[in-house]
Formats: sequence, C-alpha cells, structure tokens
Amino acid sequence: MEADVLDVVVIGAGPSGTVAAKLLHDQGLRVEIVEAAIFPRFVIGESLLPQCNMILREAGLYETVAENAEALGFQRKNGAAFEWAGKYSEIDFREKFSDGDGETWQVRRGDFDKCLADEVERSGVVIRYGHRVTGYQRTDSLTHLNLVDVQGCERSLTARFVVDGSGYGRVLPRLLSLDEPSDLPSRKACFTHIEDHISASHFDREKILVTIHPDNRDVWFWLIPFADGRASIGVVGEAHLLGEGTPAEILRRQVSQVENLSGLLEKADWDSDTRTLESYSTNISSLYGDGYCVLGNAGEFLDPVFSSGVTIAMKSASLAAKAIKRELAGETVDWSNDFETSLLQGVRAFKTYVMGWYDGRFQDVIFYRNDHVHAQKITTMISSVLAGYAWDLNNPFVKHSERKLNTTAEIVREAT
Ligand SMILES: Cc1cc2nc3c(=O)[nH]c(=O)nc-3n(C[C@H](O)[C@H](O)[C@H](O)COP(=O)(O)OP(=O)(O)OC[C@H]3O[C@@H](n4cnc5c(N)ncnc54)[C@H](O)[C@@H]3O)c2cc1C
Repeated sequence: MEADVLDVVVIGAGPSGTVAAKLLHDQGLRVEIVEAAIFPRFVIGESLLPQCNMILREAGLYETVAENAEALGFQRKNGAAFEWAGKYSEIDFREKFSDGDGETWQVRRGDFDKCLADEVERSGVVIRYGHRVTGYQRTDSLTHLNLVDVQGCERSLTARFVVDGSGYGRVLPRLLSLDEPSDLPSRKACFTHIEDHISASHFDREKILVTIHPDNRDVWFWLIPFADGRASIGVVGEAHLLGEGTPAEILRRQVSQVENLSGLLEKADWDSDTRTLESYSTNISSLYGDGYCVLGNAGEFLDPVFSSGVTIAMKSASLAAKAIKRELAGETVDWSNDFETSLLQGVRAFKTYVMGWYDGRFQDVIFYRNDHVHAQKITTMISSVLAGYAWDLNNPFVKHSERKLNTTAEIVREAT
C-alpha cells in the first residue's frame, strides 16, 4: 500500500473525469486520474452541445480544444437538422433563448478526450493510463482503491474522496450495488465511421442530421460529419425493430430503407468496423455517498437522440467539483440539493423531450413550421434546450418542460 494520501482520485479520463480533475486541481487539491485504457481509445458520443463550451471554459480547457480543432478534424456545429419521409426541419443553436455559445464541434471522441486529458496532464494532474479500478474500501474517512495494470500487477491508491467518471464501466455503481433499472425501454445502436463523399449541396455539415425511419418513427439515424470528409453514422431502435444480422448488416439494411439518407451516402466508403451497444440507458439509486460521487454515464444515461451525454457528463463534473472543494475544506455539504437535485433538474428536462421524441409529441413539434412571432419565440426556447442549456430555469421549456411540451404538441396537432 502506498502511504501517500491524495485528496481526490478520479476514475476514468473521459470528459466527466478530465473536467472534474482539472477543476479540482485548479482549486489546489492533489488529484490523480486512473484510466483503464491507453489513449486514444474509441468511445461513442461525437456530437457536442454548445453548453459544453461554457463548462470547458470554466475548467480552462476550451482553448486547447479550439487550438487543436482544425488539426484533429473537429467540425464546427451550429445546430441539428431533422428529416422524416420528405419533411425537413432544422434548429439553429445560434437562435436561442438562453445566453451562451450557439456553436460547438462534432468530434472523434478518441481525439477529443485525448486532447482534454493531455491538457489536464500538462496542468500537473497525474493520469495512470492502463490501470483498471477493481476494488473499493472506505475506512476512517479514507478510500482505498485497488488497481490492476495492463501487465496484471496490482497496487492501491488512497484518497480522501473518489469521483467515479468511469462511463460504461460503471465502477462504483457495480462495486457498491447502486445500479437500478432504467425506466426507458432497452434500445440498441449500430454505428460506424465512413468516408462519406457527400456532394449534395443542400447537406449542411455544420449540423447533426437526425433522420427518422419512414415507416417506423421509433427508429432513427444519426449522421455526424467531421471536418475531413469522414462522418459517423448510426441507427437506433428497439432490437426487434432493427431486425436480425450482424451490426454492419443491420446498419446497411436500415440505411437502404431510407431514401434521403441512402441517396446522400450513395458514394460513401464503408471502410470501418461497425460496432453495437445495447441497453445503454442506466439509472442509479444515488449519485453520491460517503466520500464519493458518480458523474456522467457512470450515473444516469438517458438516450443518444439529443446528444446530451457529454453535456450532462461535464455538468455533473462542474457541480461535483464545487461540492468536493467545500467538503474537503471541512464544510457541511448538502449533496442532495447542491449536486444531485441540481444535476437532475437538467437531466429531467432532457428526459421530457426524449420521452416526447419516442411517443411522437416532440417529433410533431419539430416538424411543424409556423412563422408567427410567438411560434418563433417557442422555437428559440426549444433551441436552447437542444443546445444543452437545460439548467436555465428562466426558460419555460426547461422549468415546465412536460407542461410546455404537452401544450405545444396539442396546438401543433390541432393545426395540422
Ligand atoms: C449510441 C450512443 C450514441 C451517443 N451519442 C452521443 C452524442 O452524439 N453526443 C453526446 O454528447 N453523447 C452521446 N452519447 C453519450 C456519450 O457516449 C456519453 O454520455 C459520454 O461518453 C459520457 O462521458 P463520461 O466521461 O461519463 O464517460 P466515458 O466517456 O465513457 O469515459 C469513461 C472512461 O472511464 C474508463 N474506465 C471504465 N472503467 C474503468 C475502470 N474500471 N478503471 C479505470 N477506468 C475505467 C474508460 O476507459 C473511459 O475512458 C451516446 C451514447 C450512445 C450509447
């Protein structure tokens, strides 16, 4: 056992982990990150929301992303486009209700996460790559983590506080039995990277394109262009709706059933492996406990449809860092209010629109066009949520998300 006691150990060097570690380090705490993989590694989640920029700035990580964006092929992103059976609609994040950036990037996460991790390391945080956390014990206000490195060697780390940013690894939820079933149906995603060769002049590379299957509104596709002629493409739906076959067969078959999408991609080179993820929506009994908190995907994950995952991961890191600083300074922290409730307020707003997407209410609102000034104002409020400003309680579509979505969907359905 190493005698040295750290202030904080962060599990995982994804966006939740690096943002948390940098914020804590900047507050003068001694922080280390333990990361199972060797970077760069693949992870899905490539379309950021402008709210991410605000948190990157808060953590002093925005500049490194902006400076490396061109070299790493990050694509400027200013909104989301939606297509369904010949109907087209787009949301421009620059036209929004809340203050803050209206643009961000679409990124290969291996490069993006490494860019953040490198900057965090340069600032003085030690990152132990190739070390997997396998055990956890809490005694006398200290936490001992067991680690196994890529050679199979075991060691331990001791810290006053542990932050779990392990994403799909869900280290503490598994070790402390915090996992709870999600109340969202199990869905599956099949996805890959392609050389897209899209020549259509109407295709806007600065927006994620979300396409709904013409015959089944529960099945949808993302097309996320990067700046170097490549793109990420994926299909999402309940497994029985996607059908049988390998992930590649499922993806290619589903794309071939959608006229607009298959037309856009008619010259694409499908040159990479297709991956799949299933039952990724997660829930947890508590996001915090004695000497620990759980961030990002290791805690709650909703659904990929509005690209909210990285935003929620970074927001959880920002809220947690403030609470940890106070706790380690000896203050009493109301974790329920200052961390969990604050975080879940935005998560719940996103969830309203995710549920509304799959039951059709929000799809109807998105495809409704009306140039009346009142309708335009509503669009800016919806744009704010989709840009990630889901914690802005001045926005009625955040504060009263369920009521506002219901009313708007009713009006839209009566008008069409
Ligand atoms: C199909 C799909 C599409 C998505 N698309 C988007 C999108 O377009 N935009 C978006 O914002 N989000 C998207 N997401 C969500 C996104 O993937 C996650 O929300 C995001 O990666 C969460 O970041 P994180 O920091 O919590 O975890 P991660 O990015 O997963 O990082 C966790 C890190 O922890 C490490 N780790 C795991 N176990 C251990 C261990 N035992 N010890 C040490 N280290 C460990 C891992 O190696 C990893 O590097 C999508 C999700 C799915 C399922």
